[in-house]
Amino acid sequence: DEKKEVKHMEELMVLIEDAKEFIPYGKVANYIPALAKANKKDLAVAVFLPDGRHFEAGNTTTRFTLQSISKVISLALVLMDRGEDYVFERVGMEPTGDPFNSIAKLEVRSAGKPLNPMINAGALAVTSMIKGHSVKDRFNRLLDFMRVLTGNKELSYSKEVAISEFETAHLNRSLSYFMKEHGIITEDVELLLDLYTRQCAIEVNCVELARIGLIFALDGYDPVSKTQIMPEKIAKICNTFMVTCGMYNASGAFAIKVGIPAKSGVSGGVMGAVPRRFGIGVYGPSLDEIGNSIAGIKLLELLAQKYNLSIF
Ligand code: GLN
Repeated sequence: DEKKEVKHMEELMVLIEDAKEFIPYGKVANYIPALAKANKKDLAVAVFLPDGRHFEAGNTTTRFTLQSISKVISLALVLMDRGEDYVFERVGMEPTGDPFNSIAKLEVRSAGKPLNPMINAGALAVTSMIKGHSVKDRFNRLLDFMRVLTGNKELSYSKEVAISEFETAHLNRSLSYFMKEHGIITEDVELLLDLYTRQCAIEVNCVELARIGLIFALDGYDPVSKTQIMPEKIAKICNTFMVTCGMYNASGAFAIKVGIPAKSGVSGGVMGAVPRRFGIGVYGPSLDEIGNSIAGIKLLELLAQKYNLSIF
C-alpha cells in the first residue's frame, strides 16, 4: 500500500511538471490589489479520498483566499438557512455566458434578479441572505461552517485581502445597488460588501479545499467526521451549479474537457468534486483571460484524462 501511495504522489508530481509549462501564459489577478502579491510560479494539487487519505504535490502549504469558491459554500449555508423556495425567488438557475462580474443581464434579462448564484451579482444576493444579528455574527456562522467542512478549527480570513477588496469593489457595489433598487437586496450595501469581502478572503490550503470537494462529491457526507454536513439535496444543487456555472464563462469548455463539478476563484484556487470518488484542490495563481487558473485547468485536464474523471 505504501508503494502505491508513493506511486500516486509521483504521478501527481509528473502532472504538475507538465501543467507548469502554462504558467507563463497567464497573469496574477490585480484588480484586488492584495492578490497581486501571490507567487505566480506556485502550482499545487491535492486529492482527497473517501477513506480519509489524501495525496498532494507541489506548493501545497501555501494558503490562499477562496474568492469565488466561497460562492458554493455561502449558497449551501443559505439553502439550509432559508430553504429552496426563498432562495430561488431571489436568484436564478441559469448560466449567463458572461464574465463573472458582468452587470449586463441584470437589467436586460431579469429585472434585477441575478441569473445564478455563481456570478458576482448572484453571490452578493446569496450572501445577503445569510442569517444572523450582525455582519460579525453572520460572518462567524459562515466561518464556523467552513471550519466544519475543512476540519480546521483555526481557519480564518485575510484581513488584508478583505480590506483591499472592500476599498476597490466599485463594480460589486454597483451590482448591489442595482439589486437593491429592484428589491432583491434590502440591507445596507456597505454592510453587505463588508460581509462579502470577508467571505471571499477566507483562507485555505489545497488539501483543505480537496476535503471540501470530497464532501460535495459524497453529496454532503464527511467521511472523516462520519457526519452528514448538509442535506444531500443541497449538495446536489451545489454540484449542479458547479457544472453549469462553476468556471465562469468557460464552464462549457470545462465540462467537455474535464467534466466534473468544479468552482474556481480569482486567487487561483479550484475545487473539484468527482462524484463518489474524490475531492480535488488545486492552486495556481497565474490566471487565463477569463480568470481561471491557467495551469490549474491544464492540470485538471491531465488528471481527468489519466483517471477517467468525466461524469459524462
Ligand atoms: N471577490 C471576488 C470578486 O467579487 C471574487 C470573484 C472571483 O473569484 N471570480 O470580484
